[in-house]
Amino acid sequence: MRVILLGAPGSGKGTVGDRVSEATGFPRISTGDLLRDAVRKDTPLGRRAKDQMGRGGLVDDALVLELLGERLAAADARDGYILDGYPRNLDQARCLEGLDGKRAEVVFLIETGEDVVVERLSGRRVCPNCGAVYNLVTKKTRREGICDVCGAHLVQREDDRPEVIRERMRTYRTQTEPLVAYYQAKGDLHKVDGNGSVEETFSPIKSVLARMPAGSGRVPRERS
Ligand code: AMP
Repeated sequence: MRVILLGAPGSGKGTVGDRVSEATGFPRISTGDLLRDAVRKDTPLGRRAKDQMGRGGLVDDALVLELLGERLAAADARDGYILDGYPRNLDQARCLEGLDGKRAEVVFLIETGEDVVVERLSGRRVCPNCGAVYNLVTKKTRREGICDVCGAHLVQREDDRPEVIRERMRTYRTQTEPLVAYYQAKGDLHKVDGNGSVEETFSPIKSVLARMPAGSGRVPRERS
């Protein structure tokens, strides 16, 4: 099964996606994370993607597809996966169907107010070492500015600066939002309210997944 998480930057796709991953056992695959990893490792692909990411625009479809294709070929994605940040435009949505055949597919649109996402993004701090994500208001570290997991000093993502946030929102509205109508027309789309807590957002998603037909690879498990 393929779970697609749609939503503006800061809508909580990553955090909620981790809950979906825990519940289903499927990996969350974030093209943003794959790209940041390529930039960090200074690969040729990372060098080509870096400028676009820093400006808040979309990276070339072909580059993203190359990274995604490699990731989807890994054994842990065989039965299912959760896409966070892909597709980001209509061409990518069509590409995905060609790339990975006819899988049972369910799409969640996480809807959030613009003030909520701006607050979340500007307060986000990330660990450059282990990738853990925090928030100055909603998910504080035990020691200020220090990662709870590995002790590294936290940083702000380059593209979480206010001027880049504005551009990312524009990119979302012009390029990604048309996907809502696309998936709605296919009958795969479920809208969920993303303004509340992670659990409040996750709860309706969990109910939908629990109703997926047997054999689609879903098994929402209760957390112990
Ligand atoms: P994210 O972590 O999903 O917010 O992505 C961070 C940045 O990576 C975006 O602002 C884009 O520049 C780039 N990016 C991530 N996913 C895609 C994608 N599917 N297509 C094009 N660019 C992407």
